[in-house]
Parts: sequence; structure tokens; C-alpha cells
Amino acid sequence: MRILVTGGAGFIGSHLVDALLSLGHEVFALDNLFIKDNEANLSKAKSNKNFHFIKGDILDKELVDALIEKSDTVYHLAAIVGVKYVVDNTLLTILVNVEGTLNILASAHKYKRRVVLASSSEVYGRNRRIPLSERTSRLLGPTWIPRWCYSTAKALDEHLAFAYYHSGLPVTCVRYFNIYGPRINSLGYGTVIANFIRQALTGEPITVHGTGNQTRSFTYVSDAVEGTILAGTKNEAIGEVFNIGSPKNEIRIVDLANLIKKLTNSPSPIIHIPYEDYFGSKHEDVPRRVPNINKARKLLGFEPKVSLEEGLVMTIEWCKKNWEIHSSQSKGC
Ligand code: UDP
Repeated sequence: MRILVTGGAGFIGSHLVDALLSLGHEVFALDNLFIKDNEANLSKAKSNKNFHFIKGDILDKELVDALIEKSDTVYHLAAIVGVKYVVDNTLLTILVNVEGTLNILASAHKYKRRVVLASSSEVYGRNRRIPLSERTSRLLGPTWIPRWCYSTAKALDEHLAFAYYHSGLPVTCVRYFNIYGPRINSLGYGTVIANFIRQALTGEPITVHGTGNQTRSFTYVSDAVEGTILAGTKNEAIGEVFNIGSPKNEIRIVDLANLIKKLTNSPSPIIHIPYEDYFGSKHEDVPRRVPNINKARKLLGFEPKVSLEEGLVMTIEWCKKNWEIHSSQSKGC
């Protein structure tokens, strides 16, 4: 099959590209190299004759239309991501994540191409009804809290997807739960595992926000990719939304800090900092996040395999080899 992956040079996108190539597909990766170091994520793919890289933007309607016309399936992962980056760039987040997705869905609808839309566990907001199933309500704070614009944009993307589905588009949404692994980009996204590994490897203090009692269920990238491909392959998936996550890997952020310190054998102290020091005064956090993955298990046959400790060991190994680590600061990857 001919497959288009938007955001194909990104962290998850590039792993998806590699997996699709290894299944024998012809793969087109569209990416604007917004994070220019991400091109290195494609070094393996570039040696495959079935791989094509297109440097371009999902806001470029004509380009998107031409690429979708010649594809059978589209995996739409291109987006502005990372809570810290979103909070600092709300307008860009809303425009890219809504208008870009609209371009993809409109063209896919025109040519009747199958689409998998990458959404996020962030759509649930701060709902405390754990575990979160696809039927769980969304609970967000006020609109003047910048963080919620990402959740709102992704939810609008899902609404758009379902609206197009009802007028004939074969589309599936996947909600990722805190994906991590090799190729994680510390500078681009500022997510917790990237920050903690970088701090541990440089000997800087590991910065836990607030009490550190908040939890996340971290999902290794190969598990996320497997779920994504199942969502783009199974007929039962069309018109549905799926949680893609690892419920067994729930951990408190303070315990994550201790685990990364132990696995890196780091001298870094673990310190607690107020949220506002990192995100500014208008911020709300998600106290607990655990997916219910029964629907993905049943309809897709999805089962995450990698434990948090195994995944962290592989990620730390990769970061040591690929990040330029300086004593007081990392350049990231
Ligand atoms: N966090 C932290 N230190 C950091 C970065 C993040 O304690 O250097 C916290 C953050 O406030 C949140 C959790 O770790 O409670 C997960 O943050 P991340 O941005 O990785 O993901 P998300 O909030 O989207 O789940």
C-alpha cells in the first residue's frame, strides 16, 4: 500500500514510518522539520527504496491534496505538541492543530482515503473518573488556562473526523497516553521523561512539579505504533476512537524521578518546584491519568507489552548515545 504519514519525521511519526516500511509498504513522510534535528529520525528510513520524504506543511492545502490523492491510507500525526510548548504558543497550536487537520480530512474525504487521526489523552482534561474509557466525559478548566487549548483543538479534530465519517470518510481516532522512547526530543516538547533523563545525565536537579503525587501511565513508543497500525488496518476500527496506552505503567511523578535517578545512577538531587515557575501563573494539571484499553483490546487486539522500567532502560541508552550531553546543559537530540 501507499501510505502517507504526516509528522513523519517526529518522535512517534518516524517510528511509525519505520514500522510501515518493515511491513513492505511504500511510505511518504510529510514533515515541515519544525524541529530541524528531527531529520535524523529518518536516517534508517532513508536507506529504504520504498521511502519518500517531503519537506512541507500540513497548512499547504495543495501539497496535502496532491499527496493524499496518491495514497491509500493517511496517518495524521503532524501537530504542535508538548504542554510547555503549547502553553507558550497557544495561537500556533490552535491554528496548526485545527486547520492542518481540516486540510487532511477534507482531501481524504474528497478521494475516500482511510485516515488515522492522532489524538490525545489530554482530551479527557482533569476528569478524576479513573480509568478513563472512550465514553468518559471531558472535564476542562476555564478557557483562560492556556493548557486547555490543546485538548480543545484535539477534541475539535475528533469532532471533525466523526462529522466526515458520517458523510462517508473511513476514519479512526487514537488517543495516545504519554508516549516515550528513543527519539524523544527534550528541547522540542519539554515532556517529563525527557526533562528528567536530561537532568539526571547532566547532574542538574531533577525538577518535580508540585507534590509529585500526580500520576501518568507511560506508554512505550513501539506499543503506541502497534496500536496505531491496528487502528489503520482493522475494519472494525472505522468510525471509532481508541485509547492507546499502558494502564499497568501508572506511576507518580515523584516516583518516576527516583526511578530515573536510580537507572542513570545519577548524583542529581530531586527537588520540588511550583508549577508557576515552569508554566506561569495560569496553569492547571491533570492529577491522575490511566487509560481503560478494553475497547482497543477487544476490537483491535491491542496489548501493550513494554514495562516502564524496560522502556526507560532502552530510552536512557538511546539518549546517552544520541544526545550531546554537557556537564550543565544538554543540547537535546
Ligand atoms: N513535570 C514535572 N517536571 C518536568 C516536566 C513535567 O514534574 O520537568 C510534570 C508535569 O507538571 C505533569 C507530569 O510531569 O504533572 C507530566 O507532564 P508532561 O508534560 O510530560 O505530560 P502531560 O502533562 O501532558 O501528561
